[in-house]
Amino acid sequence: MKYRQNLHTHTTFCDGKDTPEELVEAAIAKGFDSIGFSGHSYMFYAPEHSMSIAGTEQYRAEISRLKSKYAGVIDIYLGLEFDLYSQVSLEGYDYIIGSVHYLRFGNEYVGFDRDAETVKNIIRRYFGGDGMAFAREYYHTLAQLPSYGKFDIVGHFDLITKHIEHERLFDTGSKEYLGYAIEAIDSISKKISFYEVNTGAIARGYRTSPYPSAPLLKELKARNLKLILSSDCHSRDKLDCEFDSALELLREIGLREIYVMTKKGFDGLLL
Ligand SMILES: [Zn+2]
Ligand SMILES: [Zn+2]
Repeated sequence: MKYRQNLHTHTTFCDGKDTPEELVEAAIAKGFDSIGFSGHSYMFYAPEHSMSIAGTEQYRAEISRLKSKYAGVIDIYLGLEFDLYSQVSLEGYDYIIGSVHYLRFGNEYVGFDRDAETVKNIIRRYFGGDGMAFAREYYHTLAQLPSYGKFDIVGHFDLITKHIEHERLFDTGSKEYLGYAIEAIDSISKKISFYEVNTGAIARGYRTSPYPSAPLLKELKARNLKLILSSDCHSRDKLDCEFDSALELLREIGLREIYVMTKKGFDGLLL
């Protein structure tokens, strides 16, 4: 099967390279039947990494214009990638991806979706050099996601492993690590049914496999949780980056189904 949708895309309204219309055109050229936009919610603690408040309104208007313009050609969905500490309304979107990119220390918001040196500095400065304590703090924060709003999809579940192939910041094979991740799954999945398989870090050259890791995908499978596929697209040439290899990985793990958003809600496709 071909997966012909991407619900996790960024545009010039936040940190993406292309306009929404350029992405729509790229999606059509790739034979997609639908595309969703998930601009970064306004973050008062990191305005340079998010849509502005006025920009969010323009974004919504532009996606709405494109929905009409391309009706009958490709289905377009208006989404948002909400960062846990964003204080914006979640009303009026077709779907919301809930993500954690920042950890909070008092009034300080520390972004860890950064280069390896920055992450190592965060571990030194805030966790006394203990990478596992960083992992624990991340999963404890992520576990609280449902208390911040109503979300459809959990974004890049194990984002803290972005550099793990090159930097052994903590042991992802250890019982301790998996325990923190599983606690987060069990807490989140009471409220949020969908997790994304996210190839974004492959697209940007950090990793060779998608989020979440294979052991975590097995935990999601064991709990019958549902998956969608995205590339966390920041540039139109990466719209379906490594989709085929990700689907292959899911088949190898024994997953049988993957979901897409339709106008009637999420629909399962056989892998
Ligand atoms: Zn994200
Ligand atoms: Zn994103």
